[in-house]
Amino acid sequence: MRSSGSSSTTPADPTGAFADLLARVQACTVCAAQLPHPPRPILRVSPTARLLIVGQAPGRRVHETGIPWNDPSGDLLRQWLGMTREQFYDVSRIAIVPTGLCYPGTVNGSDLPPRPECAPLWHPPLRAAMPEIRLTLLIGAYAQAFYLGKRRGRTLADTVQAWRDFLPDFFPLPHPSPRNRGWLKQHPWFEAEVLPALRERVGALRAAGDNGGAHSQN
Ligand code: SF4
Repeated sequence: MRSSGSSSTTPADPTGAFADLLARVQACTVCAAQLPHPPRPILRVSPTARLLIVGQAPGRRVHETGIPWNDPSGDLLRQWLGMTREQFYDVSRIAIVPTGLCYPGTVNGSDLPPRPECAPLWHPPLRAAMPEIRLTLLIGAYAQAFYLGKRRGRTLADTVQAWRDFLPDFFPLPHPSPRNRGWLKQHPWFEAEVLPALRERVGALRAAGDNGGAHSQN
């Protein structure tokens, strides 16, 4: 989803501060010279969201559609979470903010890393503007590096296997990319032990919050 950058107010944003922040994000050109296309930040945020999903950066298809996780990786992530598309894209409850907001391009067929300028610039103010967030899913090494820093394990598998250590704020996950199917096969404890715990936590969050007044942008 692409933000509209509207400065209108809603019951959940009575001063318009949230909409103003969103407009500044949408107008960002900080690393435009390093991007393959004009900046197009892809995020879904609302002041009432309770779950925050932090992935890597938009791929080409997401850049073109403006809808995050609108690809096979998103299909597997929704399967992991036990969610329908409708539930997943309910921005009043679920915020989606990648580590890098704009498509960084590819090299030799592989996506480039998120732009390093982006997360330090935008995650702190966006996170501060969403005070109802109760759990943040850290999907992949870049999200885990930004939010966990030295608390990370030696490998991504070590970090994911130690998921209990990061609760109640964070839940680290591997990236659900089709390229990671080999990782999933090599680490069967992930599906057997981690996913049931993840579904339980996410389901409890969804059941607990019945919020309205979201800032939906598309
Ligand atoms: S990737 Fe982030 S820092 Fe760079 S232009 Fe997009 S929003 Fe701005």
